[in-house]
Amino acid sequence: MARYTGAKCRLCRREGEKLFLKGDRCYTDKCAYDRRPYAPGMHGRMRKKTSDYAIQLREKQKVRRMYGILEGQFHNYFLRADLQKGVTGANLLIFLERRMDNVIYRLGFANSRDQARQLVRHGLFLLNGRRVSIPSIQVKPGDVIKVREASEKSPIIQEAREVIARRGCPDWLEVDGENLKGKVVSLPTREHITFPINEQLIVELYSK
Ligand code: SF4
Repeated sequence: MARYTGAKCRLCRREGEKLFLKGDRCYTDKCAYDRRPYAPGMHGRMRKKTSDYAIQLREKQKVRRMYGILEGQFHNYFLRADLQKGVTGANLLIFLERRMDNVIYRLGFANSRDQARQLVRHGLFLLNGRRVSIPSIQVKPGDVIKVREASEKSPIIQEAREVIARRGCPDWLEVDGENLKGKVVSLPTREHITFPINEQLIVELYSK
């Protein structure tokens, strides 16, 4: 599938916020947004538009870029969220959280969602004992994710042991760094997503 392959840091600068797309680098003084906290390009420092539409669009783009999802797929998530019972905006975020690549990232097996997506595509993980290679699979409570034996020696997975110990994971997941295994304990809730997101703006944008 087509994917954004340009500079990640430009996306943070465009959204005017750190989106933490590059793993550990985002916490160092190499962060491009910390160095140049304005939009990229020659007009980057000009005053931003503040129409309702512009604000809603930026919020949608921010979330889409955080999770690394293309427009069409993101819109499909919205349509599914809208059909479900409950609050559409929260449903949307929960769909995004339940993606296999996001879960791999949250468990600490990867440094960023981008890296997690690549690892899943390369088939490094078993989901309930079966090899998977589709980053968008939705996990459910009780699912067990494990690094394949053949992939345990991979340098990225070896590094992950240290990341897991350092970062921990949200309480809807459980991780066993020793055995390179994770479990989905329950479904995530809106409260588990602590990054500042105003999902209502996205709902308003798509409801026009
Ligand atoms: Fe964004 Fe900074 Fe991370 Fe680059 S290093 S992706 S600008 S948070």
